[in-house]
Amino acid sequence: MGDARVGLVIEDDHDIRELVRVVLTQAGFDVTAASSGAEGVLAAKELDPAVITLDLGLPDIDGFEVARQIRQFSDAYIVMLTARAEELDTLIGLESGADDYLTKPFRPRELRARVAAMMRRPRSTSDVAEENGAPSGAANAESIFSHNGLDMSYDSRTVTVDGKELSLTRTEFDLLHALLEAGRMVRTKADLVRRLRDEPYDVGSYISEADERSVEVHMGNLRKKLGDSAQSPRWLQTVRGVGYRLAPAEH
Ligand code: CA
Repeated sequence: MGDARVGLVIEDDHDIRELVRVVLTQAGFDVTAASSGAEGVLAAKELDPAVITLDLGLPDIDGFEVARQIRQFSDAYIVMLTARAEELDTLIGLESGADDYLTKPFRPRELRARVAAMMRRPRSTSDVAEENGAPSGAANAESIFSHNGLDMSYDSRTVTVDGKELSLTRTEFDLLHALLEAGRMVRTKADLVRRLRDEPYDVGSYISEADERSVEVHMGNLRKKLGDSAQSPRWLQTVRGVGYRLAPAEH
C-alpha cells in the first residue's frame, strides 16, 4: 500500500518547509506540503505517502496528535522535526507513532541519510514482491521465525501471535526481526539504532543517549502491541543497562 515515491511535509514555518521540500525532492519524492496539522492529516489520507516529516509545533493540533491520527491508517515513515528545547518531547512523539526525529536546526544531508536508510528497508508485502528477492540480509530462501507462539515471515513482512496477525510499523517490525535473528544473543541499544539506520553493527558511529532512548520507546510500543510483559516476557527481554534479547523458549 502507499506510493513509495510520495513525500509529505507538515510544517508551518515557511523556510523549513521549503528546505525539507528541496531535500525530499532531491531524494526522488513527489512532495506535497501542508502548513497545519489538520491539513496534514487530510493530505496523508489522500496521498498515502511513504515518508512524512512532521513539525511538533503546529498552529492547530500538535505534532503528537497528528502522528496519532496518521497512524490510524498509515504505515508511512514519520520523522518528527523538533526545536532543541523540545528534545525531551521527542520521546512522546515516538510513543505517538513517529519512527524517528531530527532536532532543528538539522543538516539537510542528515535528513537525506535517514530517509535513504529507511527506503532501503522494505515496507510491505507488495514492496518486497516488487523487489523480487532483492533485500539484503535475507538472501537465502524464506526467512521464517517462530518463537513462543509468534511467527514472523520476513519476506511477506507479517507477524502473527497465536495465529492473530499484528499491525506493526516498519520500525517495530525491524526491531523485532533484529532480536529474532540474534536468538539469545543480546543486542545493545546502539546496535539497534544502527540497524534502523541501516549501518553495520560494528561501525562505531556515534549514537547519542537520546537515540538509545528512542529505541526504548519503540520497544515499549512493540511490547504493547505484542501484549508482552516486561516482568515475565514471552519475547522481549530487557537486559538492564545493555539492551534486549529474545526471552527463553517456553516448555
Ligand atoms: Ca512550527
